[in-house]
Amino acid sequence: MSTLVIVEPGSHPSASGVARVTRQAVTAAQHWGQPVDLLVLGHTDAAAHTHIAGVRRVLRADAPHLAQPVAEDVAALLDGLADDYAVILSAHTSLARNALPRLAARRDVGMLSEAVALLGPTTYQRPIYAGNLLATVENTPGLQILTVRASRFAEAALDGQAEVQAIVAPAADGRARVTARQSAGGERPELGLARVVVSGGRSLGSAGQFNAVLSPLADQLGAALGATRAAVDAGYAPNEWQVGQTGTVVAPELYIAVGISGAIQHTAGIKDSRVIVAINQDPDAPIMQLADYALVADIFEAVPELVRQLPAK
Ligand code: FAD
Repeated sequence: MSTLVIVEPGSHPSASGVARVTRQAVTAAQHWGQPVDLLVLGHTDAAAHTHIAGVRRVLRADAPHLAQPVAEDVAALLDGLADDYAVILSAHTSLARNALPRLAARRDVGMLSEAVALLGPTTYQRPIYAGNLLATVENTPGLQILTVRASRFAEAALDGQAEVQAIVAPAADGRARVTARQSAGGERPELGLARVVVSGGRSLGSAGQFNAVLSPLADQLGAALGATRAAVDAGYAPNEWQVGQTGTVVAPELYIAVGISGAIQHTAGIKDSRVIVAINQDPDAPIMQLADYALVADIFEAVPELVRQLPAK
């Protein structure tokens, strides 16, 4: 039996044509020690994915309705493939969170979400209570359907040589379809997948200042913008930018918290970041305990200075 990893369209590939999360999900998939196939949806570049180490086959389901897929269609496609697989796995994305429970219902098995550690063939660890506890969960035997927190896994190398196999997807269900997509982040990387995130708190004081202080830094670093719930509630930043327990969980290589106190509900969403930088005028703010680098300073002076010091893009 084998493991199937799902690759969604628009998963923000890097120069290699392969997204970081895909390489991380492939590493997670190696856990079962069985062949790993990738399922590439829509017009995503299947050939680029053949180079991921440890991948046997890249299944390409390139139907027009899968270019911007809805969960119903992905679940139907996976249901048709599931007999050949012992494990179906994806990074913990919105589409996977929507499609995989539907697949599990069709297959009458359990679905496990956001595993952070794989302990056995059917045993996993996942965060509960906003990341304050880790639960060890035993799934029922049989088909394993799960999402993983990709940032917990190393990126698979790109020296593989898989083959591409085109597959025919079932016709569109038709009851739901994507009519338009709008990104609040504009040209910026997607918050949940970005390598660098610059987030601001209530201290920014207004939407205008949020933008004026943080955008130049984010532009300079090619970063996504994030915000605390307090900043979102105050109208300084759109809802989609909220980071934390009730927002997006991020795990970038660099997280810069600008004027953020570090409430537990916020830090629940940033704990997996590789390096955390905090800028706060209060040395006793909780975020300073979590930060790898803590700068005690006024954000309205420190951030523009930081932008000046960074090499021009
Ligand atoms: P504050 O706590 O007010 O902190 C502002 C910080 O800025 C302070 O540390 C201050 O020292 C510093 N500061 C002020 N002026 C300056 C300056 N000029 N220069 C430098 N530093 C300065 N919050 C989230 O973020 N995400 C969530 O998902 C989330 N979910 C929640 C769910 C629930 C059920 C509840 C109850 C709350 C949730 N919250 C969430 C809210 C959370 O508890 C905090 O209220 C919020 O994170 C605080 O935001 P803040 O850090 O911007 O504001």
